[in-house]
Amino acid sequence: MELSSSEVWFAAGSQQLYGEAALGQVERNCREIVAGLNAGGRLPVRVVLKPVLTTADAILQVCREANADRRCLGLAAWMHTFSPGKMWIAGLAALDKPLAHLHTQFNRDLPWDAIDMDFMNLHQAAHGDREFGYICTRMRKARKVIVGHWQEEEVQRELAVWQRAAAGLHELRSLRVARLGDNMRQVAVTEGDKVEAQIRLGVEVNGYGVHELVREMEAVSDADVERLTAEYDALYAMAPALRSGGPRRESLRDAARTELGLRAFLRNGSFRAFTDCFESLEGLRQLPGIAVQRLMADGYGFGPEGDWKTAALVRALKVMAAGLPGGNSFMEDYTYHLEPGCEKVLGAHMLEVCPTLTAERPSCEIHPLGIGGKDDPVRLVFAAAAGPAVNVAMLDLGDRFRLLVNEVDVLESKHAMPKLPVARALWTPRPDFKTAAAAWIYAGGPHHTAFSQALTSEHLLDFAEMAGIECLPIGSQTRIEDFKNQLRWNQAYYSGFAAAGGA
Ligand code: MN
Repeated sequence: MELSSSEVWFAAGSQQLYGEAALGQVERNCREIVAGLNAGGRLPVRVVLKPVLTTADAILQVCREANADRRCLGLAAWMHTFSPGKMWIAGLAALDKPLAHLHTQFNRDLPWDAIDMDFMNLHQAAHGDREFGYICTRMRKARKVIVGHWQEEEVQRELAVWQRAAAGLHELRSLRVARLGDNMRQVAVTEGDKVEAQIRLGVEVNGYGVHELVREMEAVSDADVERLTAEYDALYAMAPALRSGGPRRESLRDAARTELGLRAFLRNGSFRAFTDCFESLEGLRQLPGIAVQRLMADGYGFGPEGDWKTAALVRALKVMAAGLPGGNSFMEDYTYHLEPGCEKVLGAHMLEVCPTLTAERPSCEIHPLGIGGKDDPVRLVFAAAAGPAVNVAMLDLGDRFRLLVNEVDVLESKHAMPKLPVARALWTPRPDFKTAAAAWIYAGGPHHTAFSQALTSEHLLDFAEMAGIECLPIGSQTRIEDFKNQLRWNQAYYSGFAAAGGA
């Protein structure tokens, strides 16, 4: 998982009016800006310079090429000079990749003593970008407007965030999610319209019988199982019962076989995300625990109980966060500490939390699982590292998808919780427990989330904007009455204007 093979194209707009000399200067300035952005070390994705655009045909062509190029995540546009908006109509109508509008200027400072009409002629972004903004707004074109001098750290940071969001959308557009078994029976929020998800986001979700995984597991050689259990021994603090010669060693072998079978199944089907369900385990001895945890650590998206929306989100977050410090995982709001003023959420699941969330050495343990009626599953147990994080969820409201993002602060637990047999994260949500929980519940937010220590709500807001889906952040500024109004206004917006084809 890396973003270094991807590109963002830099498209500078101008027109023929200024003559060859001026356009040559525009081109040289653009070259310097692109080189500077790439050398700044803040952008995860390389910026590639395209020829200065001076005609409608050239604009349409570069937009079509951006659509067709697998490496291109999106277009960063800037009007060095004035570029009449009508020239952009055909190109913007065709462009189906994310758009960033970099509202910058080659010179940072006005050349107070030297400024003349030639300078004025060349450095026109202040009004050229307004013309471009008009045509984007008139065409309801989703984009991120980034304002400031291109060498400014904050400008490059905003562009980097947008690049990561674009990488997440790009990933969804070619993502295949395998559902092993179906949804947990009777559960509502993990259901959803898979056809709509593919139309909106590109993600392809299909179901498979668990026997197809079992067939892969049966094809795994005993030697490979032994190699993997030896790897477990080396990597994790192994519970005595699971060690070589221990009474539960066979369960560890079974878990290793499950991991190898899952890897083969996912590889053969080109899946980068998957779900399982504890109610559909025919042919498996135990609910996959360590296997799912380690696959997530290798970049796979995962959702339990058939939760394909969360599986796709976890994968998208992992791609968006590539190379950043901090982990990304499936997560669930599990249980509470409700001491007034010190409320905390204990996030966990039956088994499946990704070990990228911790810097500590996980312990590999085996414990009973009260549901599913299978053998005791093997799992990795650890505590998520302290620090800021986000919980992200997508729900299907029937007429649209809604993305919810809650900023949280993961805490160092003062309590060891020695009998808790699963990996966990302890956090306080922002702005405070009561506001965050009420807002989440008013918004219809699910119990399953994709959890990231690497990303911020800004990444998800950019992502939702370019994907054309609703996004509601819950963070330090959230007030419940304002939030309820947002829900009301969004309901009107999405069932009115947007439903009629607007943006
Ligand atoms: Mn669950």
